[in-house]
Amino acid sequence: MKTYRGSCHCRAVTFEIETDFPELTTCDCSICRRKNALMVKVHESQMNILTGKDVLTTYRFHTHTAQHYFCSVCGIYPFHRKRVTPDHFGVNVYCLEGFDPSGISVRATDGVGMD
Ligand SMILES: [Zn+2]
Repeated sequence: MKTYRGSCHCRAVTFEIETDFPELTTCDCSICRRKNALMVKVHESQMNILTGKDVLTTYRFHTHTAQHYFCSVCGIYPFHRKRVTPDHFGVNVYCLEGFDPSGISVRATDGVGMD
């Protein structure tokens, strides 16, 4: 697996993930739809927040299990901790340096249908 570095827009938040991009996902839940998020799922052991933990703000709603992080300086969503699999992160792939989505399959996940 390769290591990719990511950041929010103002670069207060930087992080690294390890992945070989088995797939990308979209989600039609009420928040992902608004974020227009294209994500890759990584286990928490493959996620390392390097800087900016102090500026990350958490938004929770509904069951309050998922933690939707965003940068309190620039407002960008870099990643969230997932609700059904809380030991995994969904990472906003457009925050990653040098990431090219071409050739990677995209799976639409069902968020609206979750209770
Ligand atoms: Zn920022």
